[in-house]
Amino acid sequence: MKLSPDGYRLPSGADPLEVVHQHGTPLFVYDAQVIRDAYTRMVRAFDVPALSINYAVKALQNINILKLLGDLGAGLDCVSIYEVEAGLQAGFEPRQIIFTPSAVSFEEIKFAHALGVRVNIDAIPLLERFGVEFPGASVCLRFNPHVFAGGHRKISVGHINSKFGISIHQLPHVLRLVKRLDLRVEGVHIHTGSDILDPDVFLAATEILFNTAKAFDDLEYIDFGSGFKVAYRPDDIETDIETIGQRLSARFNDFCKEYGKDLTLMLEPGKYLVSRAGYFLVRTNMVKQTTAAVFAGVNSGFNHLIRPMLYDAYHHIVNLSNPHGKPRIYNVVGYICETDTFAIDRPIAEIREGDILAIFNAGAYAFSMASNYNMRPRPAEVLILDGKAHLIRRAETLDDMMRTQIPLPDLFPDKDITV
Ligand SMILES: *Cc1c(COP(=O)(O)O)cnc(C)c1O
Repeated sequence: MKLSPDGYRLPSGADPLEVVHQHGTPLFVYDAQVIRDAYTRMVRAFDVPALSINYAVKALQNINILKLLGDLGAGLDCVSIYEVEAGLQAGFEPRQIIFTPSAVSFEEIKFAHALGVRVNIDAIPLLERFGVEFPGASVCLRFNPHVFAGGHRKISVGHINSKFGISIHQLPHVLRLVKRLDLRVEGVHIHTGSDILDPDVFLAATEILFNTAKAFDDLEYIDFGSGFKVAYRPDDIETDIETIGQRLSARFNDFCKEYGKDLTLMLEPGKYLVSRAGYFLVRTNMVKQTTAAVFAGVNSGFNHLIRPMLYDAYHHIVNLSNPHGKPRIYNVVGYICETDTFAIDRPIAEIREGDILAIFNAGAYAFSMASNYNMRPRPAEVLILDGKAHLIRRAETLDDMMRTQIPLPDLFPDKDITV
């Protein structure tokens, strides 16, 4: 978001207060242009015979976002059968979807296979069962390279203590099963977690995957996962995608020569594509001075945006209603009955009751992690597309929250309780 003399403007130029006027708060707003730019930048960073960017649906699942990315040429990376089905509903071909679950039932994997999507298996018992049920089938294998790629401990998943993937040290066992069960390993995969800062660490992990890939004869692709970091703080560094693109492409092209076949380089970015496109707009319900601090309390909480509480994540916040106001130091908190802090000791242009605040980087893992905790409806979502604000999800209502509950008619027969 940019500050102009007239106040803040969304990246594609729309006035966020205008959008609030139309759709109220709390509200998630996504700017399609930012998603397009991120996608294009990533494509341009790589120079390989074939590139496949599979958007990690779990970052933000709205079907319009899936369609927008599909239109740009992306495939999908899905972690549940429901994400797979949403992808099919959005118009993706089954082979454009890779299903990368962890610790799901075999039934779910079987169902995905029946739908024709690519199945990425991350445990030996599942591989064995898959091979027994579907001899001759194609699979992708998720390996755990045993590297710590950096980032918050809760989002690092490629290290030795992680539940994800088949250990690279189990390769002999994998090869034995693949041969015995006549499986076709079409791809190998790693995903080391979110927020990779150092290209060297990322590239070191890819070396391990190249080394593993050599053991398979029928590969079509190598999937390097994701973890590309974006800037959260104004002066933050982000993953240098151009450097990674250049270095990984060169190494990949060499590998293809060695391997004797042009393979597809796959990636699965979630955060990189959508994080920066999203703004979460909230209204200030109260400004309260305590003995310790000044609290600005807003009409949302970790029920809508859990990253600050879950990952200690920094999300930049500006005051849209007082863009040129003098900065003061605030704790921005939510309305949930728990410690519910969006920001501590944060300089923000003076906040008054009723002011609209914009929380940045609300595209990835924001709405998709929202809940009904404290019995609060989940907010609406708006997509700014070609200069227009489109409502792409209405806010939930009390009825939505009651819909799946089943009141027992005879629970308290003597009391007159109506639900
Ligand atoms: C979450 C996830 C991603 C996306 O990670 P980002 O940090 O959002 O880019 C990619 N692949 C797999 C398997 C994942 O679980």
